Amino acid sequence: MKLVIITFGLWFWIACAYAQTDLNQCGTEMPMSDWEDAFQDLIHDADMPALNRSGVYEIPVIFHIVHSGEAVGLFPNLSIEQIQSQITIINQDFSAAAYNLADYPDNAFVNWAANVNLASSNLDELGRVKIANIAIQFCPALISPDGQILNEPGIDRINYLDKGWPNPTQFGTQSGMKNYLDSIVKPHSIWDVTKYLNVWVTDKSDLLTYAGVSSVPPLSGLLGIPNTATDTTDGIWCYAKAIGSYALFPSGHYISSIIDGRTLTHELGHYFGLRHVWGDAACGNDFCNDTPPAGGQNVGLPDYPHNAGSCSLPSVNVDGEMFMNFMDYTAGPGKYMFTTDQKTRIYTAMQNSPFRILLGMHNLCSTSTSTYNLSHTVNKITIYPNPATDNIYISVPDERIRQIRITDLIGTTVKVLHTRSCSISDLISGNYIMYIETNMQLHILRFSKL
Ligand SMILES: [Zn+2]
Repeated sequence: MKLVIITFGLWFWIACAYAQTDLNQCGTEMPMSDWEDAFQDLIHDADMPALNRSGVYEIPVIFHIVHSGEAVGLFPNLSIEQIQSQITIINQDFSAAAYNLADYPDNAFVNWAANVNLASSNLDELGRVKIANIAIQFCPALISPDGQILNEPGIDRINYLDKGWPNPTQFGTQSGMKNYLDSIVKPHSIWDVTKYLNVWVTDKSDLLTYAGVSSVPPLSGLLGIPNTATDTTDGIWCYAKAIGSYALFPSGHYISSIIDGRTLTHELGHYFGLRHVWGDAACGNDFCNDTPPAGGQNVGLPDYPHNAGSCSLPSVNVDGEMFMNFMDYTAGPGKYMFTTDQKTRIYTAMQNSPFRILLGMHNLCSTSTSTYNLSHTVNKITIYPNPATDNIYISVPDERIRQIRITDLIGTTVKVLHTRSCSISDLISGNYIMYIETNMQLHILRFSKL
């Protein structure tokens, strides 16, 4: 009897501990069938092949961090380092470079793909369901809607007491929290939804069992239908302790040490029109041919194959469910992939939703002399060569340089200098931002290292 009590007590403790660390559920509500019907028409429109596009979408993101006067770095007023660790994760996840990508089994869904005659374009060289490179990158917004340079790239700090807003922890139901966000927080802090990805980060009630909610992209002609966004509500909410990566920035504030930024990855999937892989019903439809049917959501960290035979004869779905897809409820470290058909949905949203189609078109992440004249620059400023390999030179006629700071696209400083030339041979290849502070103004330019 004693053993039973001890065993039960241990189980109860584990269950509670697990419940506190497993906030992978989300509060996103998918829209009605008329939205999906219209979305399917766009996907299948022969004149608009969504994937017929090269290059990378670069989307400016602004994190509205809602706090009550805590110092920067104290919960929930998260530090820029915690936000940057989050941006690193979503940039990895949306470029087929998830940190745990190597966990994808060598035989993942090979049998199932063959049994259902999955198109070769959905398969990789091993015959597995292919992990799609979504080719979307997120960069912290540098410029506010009124043209000001942000002190902290990608961050808008809001003291809700100054605004006269209630404490977010007062709202313990899904509908109450939604109403608080949609009627108070978002309309009074949102940045132009056609230019910025808005992410709100707040504390929450312990009664809420989810850590993220996203709006679903509206489609032209379907604005205002239930569960799609408006220009005062479009964007994503996340619980502050689900933002960022413990592994990348352990000094931050997290639900637990397994938090790895996948709450936002999942919500971004919804933001781009994805459904849960189980279709929000027993063996439901997520409208992607390359995600095996699933009897329901998965949680925790399953082993492959998981739930073999789900939703069909075991001989058909012998490989089980795709619990490692970002659109399942599996714990963050168990997920690492989007599929090709999911990419088609994402690109369909990017190319058709009035709130997505212009994202990345306004040069709000970085600036260059050719396309943006920051703060009414009087003097012609150039950096050359661009792209550069070994050295880069800065020409600023009639201005005296005080300091030059070079950052990567997520805002991490990689060099500080005070001269008009600089060796960049030690930088890895990619795009960088150069902040040139002179005796007259701040210039921001972008350059590429080959
Ligand atoms: Zn979800």
